[in-house]
Amino acid sequence: MFRIGYGWDSHEFKRGLPLKIGGVKLPHDRGLAGHSDGDVLLHALTDALLGAVAAGDIGAHFPPSDPKWKGADSATFVQHALKRVANAGYSLANVDSTLILAAPRIGPHARKIQARVAELLRVPLENVGIKAKTPEGMGTGNAAIAHVVVLLVKKRQDDDRALLAVADETPQPVIDDVVERVLEGVPEPEKKRTSSSSKITSKHRK
Ligand code: MG
Repeated sequence: MFRIGYGWDSHEFKRGLPLKIGGVKLPHDRGLAGHSDGDVLLHALTDALLGAVAAGDIGAHFPPSDPKWKGADSATFVQHALKRVANAGYSLANVDSTLILAAPRIGPHARKIQARVAELLRVPLENVGIKAKTPEGMGTGNAAIAHVVVLLVKKRQDDDRALLAVADETPQPVIDDVVERVLEGVPEPEKKRTSSSSKITSKHRK
C-alpha cells in the first residue's frame, strides 16, 4: 500500500558556476560542481524516488562516465525516476527535504523552490516540504548537502484489482460464519445450560 524512499547528495561549491537548487537558479557567486548541473536537491530527490521502488540509484541510471549527461538538466533525472515510480504502480503522496549549506540563505527562495519541485513532481504545493539549515560544526562550509524522503501510495486501479482478486477467492465458510455473527451482534451459542442444570441439581440436593 505504502512505500518510503530516502535520498542523500552533496556537491562542492566552485566559483564561476551558476547555482541551481531544486530546479531554480539562485543568485550567488559560486555554483555546485558536478557532471550534470550539480542540482543537489534534485539528485537526492531522484535517489529517494528510485529507492522507494528499489530501482537502484541515480549513478546506475545516469552514469557520470556517460558524456550524454554532461551539464544535463537534473529535472530529466527526476522525470525518469517518476516514470519508474508510475510503472511500479505507485504515485507520490508527499516529499520532505532538508538542505544543509552555509550560503546562500534558502529562506527567501524556499517558496520558489517548493513551487518548482511540486511542478516537476505534479503534486500540490502543500505536498512538498523544503527546509534548510546551516552546517554548524560540520566543517562542510564549501558544500551543499540535501536529504530527501518520499512517501508513495499504491495507485487506485491496482487497489481495485487487488479487491477483485480477493472477491474471486473461494469463501471460507467457518471464518465467514464467525464474521457474520460479529457483524450481526449474534451472541456465541449458550453454554450455560450445563451450569444452570447443575444449579438445579444442587437445589434438588438441598
Ligand atoms: Mg549529485
